[in-house]
Amino acid sequence: MMPATEALERLRNGNKHFVDGTERHDESITVHDRRSELSKGQKPFAVILGCSDSRVPAEIVFDQGLGDLFVIRVAGNIVAPSQVGSVEFAATQFETRLVVVLGHSQCGAILATIEELHQPSGSRSPNLRSIVDRISPSVEPLLSTDLANDSEVLVQQAVRANIRTSANHLRHGSAILERLIQEDGLLVVGAEYSLESGVVEFFDGV
Ligand SMILES: [Zn+2]
Repeated sequence: MMPATEALERLRNGNKHFVDGTERHDESITVHDRRSELSKGQKPFAVILGCSDSRVPAEIVFDQGLGDLFVIRVAGNIVAPSQVGSVEFAATQFETRLVVVLGHSQCGAILATIEELHQPSGSRSPNLRSIVDRISPSVEPLLSTDLANDSEVLVQQAVRANIRTSANHLRHGSAILERLIQEDGLLVVGAEYSLESGVVEFFDGV
């Protein structure tokens, strides 16, 4: 089992390679060998709960390969029961000890939520609404502060608030995960990917 701190270090290094343009690609073993080895079982060292945005593929921004990351992607990196269940699955089946909630700058789901709160449309599909409804509680309190006057800062803060909410939901929304956190070294952290620089900043729970 790879401890959470070591897993975090590996992600930080991988992101550094991605930002610097020094991705490792495949050092010692070929993808073919790795695929054949992985057909017998997996041991991902981190769970990434990220946004579906096409510009934030976890394996690429962390410079990781086949079998390294257990990735859950959903618009707005929200946490609903199926996301909690997916994290429980990885943490119990593969003993993965690091969970990263990975949001990103200019997230479309956050922008849509702000828009909806400013001007409720009522025309959104119920399925899309279920995503906005999960993000709204993180964003709504910000609208009654001075942040509401600066749309750029508002979006930045809303992205972070939503990441914190998702991370807290994973920390406290499951008896299984709570026990693993208290007794078995599971760590849930929040991070933000910058579309502009490629840098992932870990800012919550680290
Ligand atoms: Zn997004």
